[in-house]
Amino acid sequence: MPTLTSQNNMYDYIICGGGMSGLSLVYQLSKSSLSKKNILIIDHERKTKNDRTWAFWEKIDNPFDEILFKKWDKVKIVDTLKLEKTYDLGEYKYKLLKGIDFYDFVNKHLDDFPNISFYLDTIDSISEHTDNVTVITKNKTKFEAEYVFDSTHQLDLKNSNNHNFLQHFKGLVIETKENTFEQDIPEMMNFGIPQKVAECRFMYVLPFSKNTAILEFTVFSENLLSEKEYDQSLFDYIKNELKITDYRVIEEEFGVIPMSDTEITEYPSKRIIRIGTSGGYTNPATGYTFSNTQKKLKKIVESLEKQHIDLLKTSIWQKRHNLYASTLLNVIQENRHSMAEVFDQLFSKNHISLVFKFLDGETNFREELKIMWSTPKVKFGMAFFAIILKKLKNAFL
Ligand SMILES: Cc1cc2nc3c(=O)[nH]c(=O)nc-3n(C[C@H](O)[C@H](O)[C@H](O)COP(=O)(O)OP(=O)(O)OC[C@H]3O[C@@H](n4cnc5c(N)ncnc54)[C@H](O)[C@@H]3O)c2cc1C
Repeated sequence: MPTLTSQNNMYDYIICGGGMSGLSLVYQLSKSSLSKKNILIIDHERKTKNDRTWAFWEKIDNPFDEILFKKWDKVKIVDTLKLEKTYDLGEYKYKLLKGIDFYDFVNKHLDDFPNISFYLDTIDSISEHTDNVTVITKNKTKFEAEYVFDSTHQLDLKNSNNHNFLQHFKGLVIETKENTFEQDIPEMMNFGIPQKVAECRFMYVLPFSKNTAILEFTVFSENLLSEKEYDQSLFDYIKNELKITDYRVIEEEFGVIPMSDTEITEYPSKRIIRIGTSGGYTNPATGYTFSNTQKKLKKIVESLEKQHIDLLKTSIWQKRHNLYASTLLNVIQENRHSMAEVFDQLFSKNHISLVFKFLDGETNFREELKIMWSTPKVKFGMAFFAIILKKLKNAFL
């Protein structure tokens, strides 16, 4: 993809942020009937490092299936009592994609599109006018487009009316001397590690081969830990649970994903569309974003093809899934029940594919009742009513 040098400042589409959602959108556009549109991507950096690894479940094919690093039919979940259970995923697959493979793949693909350019700068402002949108960058360059897709907008995570949790994690890719890992069965979640009040902690181990794996220590809580605490948990797990002593660390990853029920404005105006985490594509209850992004962007591209972009808004009925996520966050925040135990119950009392479907917001109401029945009902009921009460108060006071 050429870096913009000449001052052609009019575009059909500008994509603000060339990270996961921005590059996914431009890739999907390039595969559609809109592939000839003039598109500009603006980002203050070019992605050249393996800054993240995406794990996600999916039933359908994904535009990036051909570059997946791993794909599994089964996963293992370890509960709070350290009981292991292996689940056959049925129609679903658990997939792993390395950030650098994704960035390189999309960038190479875009080399064949002279109509798609990249501009390296920080975005200062995005504003809509009668029939176009203006984007101004830090060095005062002004661009215009018919539509702007924005993945740079920061969510408001300070509003005390919301539950503002963070999913924070440190990961290590380790290589062991001996063959240690079961290549075919990733440990998707292990809740059998020390838990703390008003938090949820788990470890996961995704094997790349018999002697290489990524291990990730993950916490859902309001505040980050000290660096020492992440390291201590990882090294304790390697030594005491995996019983590995001879290994070396090849790569490290650290990340923070918002888990918040803050109000998301996906369409701040007619021609500005927020995408990725900015557009609310991150599941507030799990932090998973990748797969949902591909599904949402597919719908956006289809609507653009039909020029029906205004029909994309999430219906009120579909928004009930946000209410479920808020309930879960409230249970953690108010320490109503151990969240690790809630996950134990969700997975042990329901088929795993139903849990995935529920977390993807694709269940029908009957299936949702079944899921709700498998949680600590009184405590979830209390959390649910606390949220409804708060919403009513905010609406009328
Ligand atoms: C380490 C890590 C691991 C993750 N693992 C998973 C996972 O396993 N599964 C999953 O589903 N999700 C995962 N996520 C969550 C989510 O998938 C990623 O955060 C994903 O990258 C979000 O895509 P995005 O496009 O919204 O944001 P980003 O990919 O962060 O893209 C935003 C882009 O905007 C640019 N930008 C921001 N502000 C400006 C500005 N003012 N001007 C110019 N450019 C700007 C940034 O440089 C960036 O390139 C992970 C996140 C992290 C951080």
